Amino acid sequence: MESCKEPQTCIVCEKERRDVLLILEQPICTICEQDIVGVKPTDRTYDFYIARLKEIW
Ligand SMILES: [Zn+2]
Repeated sequence: MESCKEPQTCIVCEKERRDVLLILEQPICTICEQDIVGVKPTDRTYDFYIARLKEIW
């Protein structure tokens, strides 16, 4: 059944999602989480994610 979780705003993509993980109490959607896990320093998105994460880490 559907869960009754409130949508939370992902701190990376800033979209409201229900399928979020809480990392240090900050919501990150599973899509961004997988991107972050798979990102390589050579990827153009790497700097973007690192900058985002630095705000919380
Ligand atoms: Zn996201």
